[in-house]
Amino acid sequence: MRSPKDMEIIQIDITNECVHRCSNCTRFCGHHKKPFYMDFDTFKKAVDSMDGYEGILGIIGGEPTIHPEFEKFAKYLGSKRLCKPNTVAREPIEQLLPYIEENVFLPLDVGCRAGLWSSLNKTYYKHFETINECFDYQALNDHNNTCMHQALLMSRKECGLSDEEWIPQRDNCWIQNTWSATITPKGCFFCEVAGSLDMLFDGPGGWPIEKGWWKRTPEDFKDQLHWCELCSCGFDVPTRLSTDGRDDVTPLIYEKLKAIGSPKALKGDVVVHTKEEYQKNKHSYKAFEKSNDYMNVNNSIRVRNSASIMPRSFEICKPSHLGKILSKKPKDWIIVSPNKFTALKLKKYLSNLIINPGCMYTYNKAVAFNVIATSTRDHLDDNTLSYENLFKVYPQDKIIPVKIVGKSIRLLRNIFSVANEYKYEKKYKVVKVLGVKISHRIKEKVH
Ligand code: SF4
Ligand code: SF4
Repeated sequence: MRSPKDMEIIQIDITNECVHRCSNCTRFCGHHKKPFYMDFDTFKKAVDSMDGYEGILGIIGGEPTIHPEFEKFAKYLGSKRLCKPNTVAREPIEQLLPYIEENVFLPLDVGCRAGLWSSLNKTYYKHFETINECFDYQALNDHNNTCMHQALLMSRKECGLSDEEWIPQRDNCWIQNTWSATITPKGCFFCEVAGSLDMLFDGPGGWPIEKGWWKRTPEDFKDQLHWCELCSCGFDVPTRLSTDGRDDVTPLIYEKLKAIGSPKALKGDVVVHTKEEYQKNKHSYKAFEKSNDYMNVNNSIRVRNSASIMPRSFEICKPSHLGKILSKKPKDWIIVSPNKFTALKLKKYLSNLIINPGCMYTYNKAVAFNVIATSTRDHLDDNTLSYENLFKVYPQDKIIPVKIVGKSIRLLRNIFSVANEYKYEKKYKVVKVLGVKISHRIKEKVH
C-alpha cells in the first residue's frame, strides 16, 4: 500500500449520482436509495486540505457534472490548482479521439493539477466551457465501450481465504497501489473504494478533512482496513463486462445490500457466488494488476461516441430579429447574420463539429453563439444582447473566426484525421487494417 502523498492523483467524490449502472462500479451506483451531493463548504475544505500536494486533485462521481453546483466547484478547484485558466477546446474539433489524446488526457508527468473524471454525458456539454477552462486533465470514458470491471463486493471470508492467504494480497491491492485516496462528504480515506463502502454501508466516516491528512502512511491506515474485509479487489475474483449491469456478490454481502434497501440488489441485478462455487472456479479468476487492465478487452477505447457533446440545434435570424428569437428562450446555438446564405453555410459547417458553447464563432458577417455561454447568460434577461454588442460581451480570445474550406481540403483533412486516429489507436492496441490486427503497442494510462 502507498501513502496518499505518493499517489499521482487524489480524488474528491462530490456525488454518487450517475446516468449509468455499470457492473461492479467502484462507487456502487445503483445500490443507493438516494444519491449524495457534497456541499460547497465541505468541498472547499477538501480542496484547501490539499495545499502542498503536487499531484492531480480530481473531481469524480458517479458523474460529477450532474452535481447541481458543479460549476461553482470546478471554478474553485481551477482557481486553487491552476496558475491560469486553460484555453483548450476553443477551435472547432473535428475528431474527438486525437483531440483528447493531445489536449485533455495528458501524461501524468506534465504538471497537471486539476482533474475531472466524466462519462461525457449531456451535463458535460452544459459545462463544456467551464470544464475546459478549469481542468488541465480529463479522464473521459463514455462507457459505450467493452471494458471489464472486477468484482468488488465479494468478501474474502465468504470465499474461504485465510488470513495468511489474504493479508499479503490485500496489502498489495492494485487499486490502492495504482488509483487514489479520496475525500467524501464523510471524511478522508486511504483508498477510493473504502470511501465508497463507507458511504454505501453508512460507516463511521473517514479521517477529518484537515490540512496534511494525505501525508499519512500505511501504518496509519489500520482504522480503515476493515473495509477491505468487504472488498474483493485484492484477490482473484470474476470480472464482468461493465455493460452487463449485474454485480458479483457473496451471500452475506447480498443480504447486507438488501437490508440497506439497495435498488439493484432488490431487483436481483446481482450474481451470487457461494464459497463452494468460488473454490471450484477460482483457478479461472484473475485479479487485475494495474490501473488499465479493465480497458484492455476487445481493443476497447474510452470514447466511442461524441454525440452528447455535438451541437444540438441552430436557430438562424437576421440581426434585427435577435430580440424576438431570444424572447422564445432558445436552448442552444443562434446564428445571427445579415445574409441567410452565409448563415446556412456556417450552420452546415459547424453542425458536424464539436464546438465550445462558451465561444462565439464568426464567418464573414455571420456569428454563432450559444445562450449557455457565461458571456451571454447575464444579458439574456435584461434584453441587452444585440448583434453589435455580442462583440463586446465576449472576451477577444473567445471570438473564433472560422475558415470554411472546400470539399477537396476537407477530404485531405479527413485523411489526416483518420491517420491521426490510427496513430491514437495504435497506442491502445487497436490497430486493424482490413480487419487484421497489426500492432500491439500499448501506452499505459490511469483510470
Ligand atoms: S459510469 Fe462510472 S460511476 Fe457511473 S456507474 Fe459506470 S462505473 Fe459507476
Ligand atoms: S481491498 Fe478494496 S478497500 Fe481495500 S485497499 Fe483494495 S480497493 Fe481499497
